[in-house]
Amino acid sequence: MNLAEWLNRTAQRTPSAPALLHGTHVLADYRELARRAASLARALRERFAVTPGDRVALVMGNCPEYLELMYGAWFAGAAVVPINSRLHPREVAWIIENAEARAAFVCDELGNALASLIGARSTAVVAAGGRDFATLGNAEPLPAPVARGRDDLAWLFYTSGTTGRPKGVMISNGNLHAMTSSYFVDVDAARSGDAMLYAAPMSHGAGLYNLIGMLRGARHVVPESGGFDPAEVLALGRALREVTMFAAPTMVRHLVDRAKAEGADGDGIRTVVYGGGPMYVADIEEAVAVMGERFVQIYGQGESPMTITALGRAHVADRSHPRWRERLGSVGVALCCVELRIADEEGRELPPGATGEILVRGAPVMLGYWRNPEATARTLRDGWLWTGDVGALDTDGFLTLKDRSKDVIISGGSNIYPREVEEVLLRHPGLQEASVVGRPSAEWGEEVVAFVVPKPGAEVDPGELDRLCLDHIARFKRPKCYFVETELPKNNYGKVLKTELRARLAGNR
Ligand code: AMP
Repeated sequence: MNLAEWLNRTAQRTPSAPALLHGTHVLADYRELARRAASLARALRERFAVTPGDRVALVMGNCPEYLELMYGAWFAGAAVVPINSRLHPREVAWIIENAEARAAFVCDELGNALASLIGARSTAVVAAGGRDFATLGNAEPLPAPVARGRDDLAWLFYTSGTTGRPKGVMISNGNLHAMTSSYFVDVDAARSGDAMLYAAPMSHGAGLYNLIGMLRGARHVVPESGGFDPAEVLALGRALREVTMFAAPTMVRHLVDRAKAEGADGDGIRTVVYGGGPMYVADIEEAVAVMGERFVQIYGQGESPMTITALGRAHVADRSHPRWRERLGSVGVALCCVELRIADEEGRELPPGATGEILVRGAPVMLGYWRNPEATARTLRDGWLWTGDVGALDTDGFLTLKDRSKDVIISGGSNIYPREVEEVLLRHPGLQEASVVGRPSAEWGEEVVAFVVPKPGAEVDPGELDRLCLDHIARFKRPKCYFVETELPKNNYGKVLKTELRARLAGNR
């Protein structure tokens, strides 16, 4: 089924409910949002010859047009290629060409640079929000969304690819149906009148989460800052009420710091779904202490979008449970539509407690990588997605992530999971961030090295960090060396770039 049907049905049911907001300003109700999508679909078809199955690229930061275009493309039967607008124009051009996008809607800053890079070829480049764009939105609406099947491509998401070229992850309509329905079953409730706040990049899972609100007739709110500003988020919570948002762990930390500084508790924010990277126990404990029961964790990846496990609100907040802390350090339990397996290198299932690669099977798992059968065969084997994440299940079915398989440090023949060391370092009250990587060592193969960022105004003595490690983890796991930094290198989604830290160690600082 075409995902744009969900918008159409909500528009039929509640035509005058507010649908699209910029800050607190209502731009369109559901009738109008559905009409705009249907008009854009006509324009895509007639102006840019977009036919069902074609790709339409969106290279924009968070803006209200994002949702109009996403649904316009789906309405026309096309797949959306979301591209991070902060990538270098050459990287953007490469993705557009790889996807063979018929049209690319871009933010103003990128327009000219891109047009000269891909201008002569087969992709039309349109500035979203420009005058030409406004005329597209006035085309005669298509009467109904084009019929699409479960396995038709809906979302072609390019992985950030820390090595080599990014790969296009093919996500189907069926994958997104599964993501959306399991949200209601396993992650959180959603209601009409909720406000879905897009503070995290819409070109990532946070944008896909709009489907939940679209189905329920919620308000879709793009902050005026176009991104994440903690003070703005707290103010929007108070003004809009019933806010749900996705936030990466670094965003949660900044939100909590701001709430503390303001003496606020996140009033009006109902749910913060966090994930996309490790949330350290000390951080989530503080988040709950400051803002209360508003947090739900999910674990997913582009290849199984937002949908592998979840740690529900009660599990995050229930301090009375004897294993509360342990569970807080986990990513929760498998969602209803996936099977989970911890496997050794041959794919043999390992028992609870054992550490191995996390394998996932089920309805949200991608179709494969776009025009890349080798990478697909490596990653999808016998129907199982090899996530590249390493973890362990406990006897109650809670999954704890240890690390990405490529980040595991092997020192003197023992596996060391940086996350475990980072968790201990972050117990130090003066520490804001810590990231642990392996450094080549003639004696041990690799040795543990930590990059740490003190809190503003705090001094951190490596001797104290060393003692903390000696008190909590095996001797061989403690860092041999600490680098005190003012910040850690991160990608646009806030993930620490361990490859860059390793490159610094190799002398390429
Ligand atoms: P991406 O495909 O860019 O969404 O990145 C997905 C990766 O982020 C996963 O494979 C994990 O390594 C990491 N990740 C996602 N969610 C979590 C989480 N809740 N806790 C720790 N790491 C996570």
